Amino acid sequence: MDTTSCPECGALAEVLWRDVAASTDGPVELAKIQCLGRHWFLLPVASLAGSGRNSGAARPRAGATPL
Ligand SMILES: [Zn+2]
Repeated sequence: MDTTSCPECGALAEVLWRDVAASTDGPVELAKIQCLGRHWFLLPVASLAGSGRNSGAARPRAGATPL
């Protein structure tokens, strides 16, 4: 079972399925997750917490500001 944490409440959430959808930036892998509190979300896989795929795209950067 693939799990992550709920963006809403932070509880353990199960990844129900993953699929690849076309977007203007190219294919993006989406996942539907549902947490123990019954929240559910359709999210880009890259934005899931604890998936081991943290590319940095959806994470705020502390400190350095490029401009
Ligand atoms: Zn939740």
